Amino acid sequence: MSGYLDARPRVGYFYTGKQNAEILSDKVKTITVDHYKSRPVVVNESSSVYEAITTMFLEDVGTLFVVDKDSTLTGVVSRKDLLRASLGQKSLETIPVGIIMTRMPNVTVCYEDDFIIDVAKKLISKQIDGLPIVRKTGRGSGLEVTGRITKTNITSLLVDLANNESI
Ligand code: ADP
Repeated sequence: MSGYLDARPRVGYFYTGKQNAEILSDKVKTITVDHYKSRPVVVNESSSVYEAITTMFLEDVGTLFVVDKDSTLTGVVSRKDLLRASLGQKSLETIPVGIIMTRMPNVTVCYEDDFIIDVAKKLISKQIDGLPIVRKTGRGSGLEVTGRITKTNITSLLVDLANNESI
């Protein structure tokens, strides 16, 4: 009866008057990123574009997160970033991903306890496929990557909601 009934001290249970859509909407707004995250795939900023393409195929992801030698997030590379770099004349083994990535502070990030609905809104407004989930490293403003959330994760949430799975 989750959402249909509520309880108050000295009143007991009472009917909330909420409709199905409102209950579903309330439920979605409470789900945090950590329920639907995936494992992040990272490359070092000194890795070549060739290595990044290989990693993307082997790990079967569409976005790679780029880190420095201290594992601090420095950027993001997408499929099209790598395609664009591949159109040039230079050898892909000699171009570091650090040159072609979208660089901090322009990377959109989220935290484990952010609401998934806010991440979904960011994916739409920024027209991107995924976000790194991060936490502060304790070294200045540095961030370390703890997870990944993509359009696929949001689709899983939609399927669970349709199947009425307990989330
Ligand atoms: P694709 O480029 O393969 O269509 P995206 O739509 O995810 O994939 O990426 C579009 C552009 O946005 C790329 O240049 C990429 O580097 C950048 N980008 C991807 N994810 C993020 C992010 N979380 N924050 C900022 N920029 C991003």
